[in-house]
Amino acid sequence: MTEAERELWRRLGRGQLQGWKFRRQVPIGPYFADFLCLEARLIVEVDGGQHLELEAEHDQERDAWLRSQGFRVVRFWNNQVLGEIEGVLESILQQLTPPPSPLPYHGDSLRSQGEGELGAADLEWMRHALGLARRAAIEGEVPVGAVLVKDGAVLGEGWNKPIALHDPSAHAEMIAMRAAAAALGNYRVPGTTLYVTLEPCVMCAGAIVHARVSRLVFGARDPKAGAVDSVYDVIARPRLNHVVAWSGGVLEDECGAVLREFFRSRR
Ligand SMILES: [Zn+2]
Repeated sequence: MTEAERELWRRLGRGQLQGWKFRRQVPIGPYFADFLCLEARLIVEVDGGQHLELEAEHDQERDAWLRSQGFRVVRFWNNQVLGEIEGVLESILQQLTPPPSPLPYHGDSLRSQGEGELGAADLEWMRHALGLARRAAIEGEVPVGAVLVKDGAVLGEGWNKPIALHDPSAHAEMIAMRAAAAALGNYRVPGTTLYVTLEPCVMCAGAIVHARVSRLVFGARDPKAGAVDSVYDVIARPRLNHVVAWSGGVLEDECGAVLREFFRSRR
């Protein structure tokens, strides 16, 4: 790595680029990307400075090929990176649209300002829920996982089990909330965050409100039955007193992939 590349590498994914994941030296077809942000399909290149004609031609071919594959390429010179790193980061940021998963969209929480903000712990808990979803798949149930968390600890968790339990209400969220309520000895679970890999249905959204869950974080949207804001707006525009702060689309790709994979394998 050149000094400029080292400097850039040190700054990517931090500060104003926080939340964007870059990888180094990633093979793409016949080429390598210096720095790749896969979510945004953006490639950042750092060039030496004495650009020979042959080299420039090669770059053009390469960029054209990458563009044909849906990538965008931005180039900076060594001395730009070393001399005006803030400006370089700024122009990278401008290329990074749309906003990264985990924040494709965001519920506005009427009375819980700030609580809808996502942090690193949210991603960890969603990964945990993804692990639970995979257990459902192993058991032949639609892979959805949920975990209810309070003060950084698990209060209850579960994965879909309607088939095994002969229970149409045995959705992952219901199982997690039942376990938590039982553990607390309370039918309400205030001060908790529920992580679920799929946007809750009407039944679960209703139960989330009844249970006084403070915050909901979900993964994939459910355009057919989602009751946060996709089809119904039980959570986003509640007619009840209790307001649930919520964020959706967290690890959306992974959460959706588990479901797609499951249905593909059953076809
Ligand atoms: Zn449900």
